[in-house]
Amino acid sequence: MTIHVLSDQLASQIAAGEVVERPSSVVKELTENAIDAGATTITIDIRGGGRELIQVADNGVGIGADEIETAFLRHATSKLSSADDLWAIRTLGFRGEALAAISAVSRLTIVSRVRDASAGVRLVLEDGKIVAREMVGAPAGTVIAVENLFDNVPARLKFLKSVTTEKRLIDEFVTRYALAYPAIRFRLSHDGRVTFQTAGSGATADVLLAAYGPDTARQLMEVATLPREPGPSGGDRRAIDVHGFVSDPALTWAGRNHIQLFVNGRMIRDTRLTFAVIQAYHTLLPVGRFPMAILFIDLPPEEVDVNVHPTKVEVRFRDEGAAFGAVQRAVRASLMETAPARGLGSWSPGPSGGWGAFRPSGDYSDTPSAQLDIPWQLRGPEQERSIEGAPSASLSEAPEHRLPIMRVIGQVGAAYIIAEGPDGLYLIDQHAAHERILYEQFLAQRQGQQAASQGLVASATVYLSPSQTRLVEEQLPLLASLGFEIESFGPNAFSIRAVPAILTRSDPAGALAAVVADLENETPPLKSETEALVIKRVCKTAAVKAGQSLTREEMEAMILQLEACEVPHTCPHGRPTLIHLSAALLARQFGRT
Ligand code: ADP
Ligand code: MG
Repeated sequence: MTIHVLSDQLASQIAAGEVVERPSSVVKELTENAIDAGATTITIDIRGGGRELIQVADNGVGIGADEIETAFLRHATSKLSSADDLWAIRTLGFRGEALAAISAVSRLTIVSRVRDASAGVRLVLEDGKIVAREMVGAPAGTVIAVENLFDNVPARLKFLKSVTTEKRLIDEFVTRYALAYPAIRFRLSHDGRVTFQTAGSGATADVLLAAYGPDTARQLMEVATLPREPGPSGGDRRAIDVHGFVSDPALTWAGRNHIQLFVNGRMIRDTRLTFAVIQAYHTLLPVGRFPMAILFIDLPPEEVDVNVHPTKVEVRFRDEGAAFGAVQRAVRASLMETAPARGLGSWSPGPSGGWGAFRPSGDYSDTPSAQLDIPWQLRGPEQERSIEGAPSASLSEAPEHRLPIMRVIGQVGAAYIIAEGPDGLYLIDQHAAHERILYEQFLAQRQGQQAASQGLVASATVYLSPSQTRLVEEQLPLLASLGFEIESFGPNAFSIRAVPAILTRSDPAGALAAVVADLENETPPLKSETEALVIKRVCKTAAVKAGQSLTREEMEAMILQLEACEVPHTCPHGRPTLIHLSAALLARQFGRT
């Protein structure tokens, strides 16, 4: 084999492949350029999922006729001049690769006029070469049309997904940028039909409504900027600001791709930060379900390296731990403390009015599972009466994620409690509900102290395998702090002298064996997580089971206690504790509406 230098054309096609993988990457790069150009209106027209045409028009600063050819050279940019600038990047672009890359793999037409020029300039490029140039009348700003994408790169064409997939990815990119830049008016159309548009009102809430419709938007809660933590020297420890929106735990998705992160206005992918969001929902979501989040992480540009990947979707934080902690704290605080985003519930479609039209073009297999209509916002009539006379504004100060007041009607199948509330019927899973109640009571009583313990009249003996024995020995201090009094009783046996008080009526040996089985399955790395695991198991063991019939008094007591819970809608393992059949749903089902 002889070694030779690649032809210019081949070299630029290879380089282009890194930046423009697929139609949606072209949309992303052109949109980013428009945003960098200070546009307040960005109009995107797509045909054939981007293969036939991608056209992005903006009203930004435009490119001067004397510079337009330069813009298409590789590594030509107006956004960066020295190496130092790399650490202070405030624009989305900086590598100067996109226009060169896109023009190398398509037929590209650009028309651009700077505001104070008398005419605009029109340039046509094919396979990266200029084939036409003329001065034209044009509005201020830039229009770039990309046709025949990848026609000259058959290898790439083969890997393109279906038109539907490409459309979906384009929708995703555009919605995300619209969320990050609510002051810009976006309009996206596919094959001549407008599928998404925003008003450019500046309110992220308006864009959420346009992007996801009122049902989902209503279930998003605001993540507010937390007060900064003072550092050791008294000043700010890290100036990381996290704000945005996260979904109510009742709204879940099958995948984590609805967790959208932006760093300094740039859409990014980051598995660790995504995990930080998921972890903030700990015990609130069913296993295998994920929340939606739109989070804006803002920090000084020198704290983050954006030059990690040609597509600029990966970044590196100087202090990754600080970013992780900031995201997790902000989301957790929102879940625990703030009520569902105020006013979201009462929104009208807003001036953009486009939400009805926007439907993701792909078939999302992971549609939201919010049909259960769990009443986070409801307050019982009694509660409302008790604050009668108070100014109506204070109504919204009440914790809105609590349950409404419910009246017990009876029990079905010795497993579920039926209750009536202000808006229809509630079916409560007695076991899951009791688990939740015991879990919160346990945590509250404990507050870092020794948990209440109950001595056994006759000590119980539990026999374990050698490896289980070692596990128990390792965890003896933890088990003791939770109320177990255990002593070694021969080589692989333990004698149980006392158990956590809530286990008084359970089989002590069975309870310890269950704890050991859990620990065998997974012993989490952190002590606090191991503790949570054991507490959950203890509560599960102590909770009433399905099959136990309850007296009316017992059911009423349970409902009262569930109403008092911080997080009444799921058991500590994340399964729902209740199902709500609203009056409206019942009326619909009976054909009354
Ligand atoms: P980068 O965005 O990394 O600078 P690009 O190849 O995307 O590189 O663009 C090259 C240059 O062309 C930009 O730096 C900018 O000066 C100019 N440019 C591109 N698109 C636009 C636009 N829509 N409006 C104004 N200038 C633009
Ligand atoms: Mg660019």
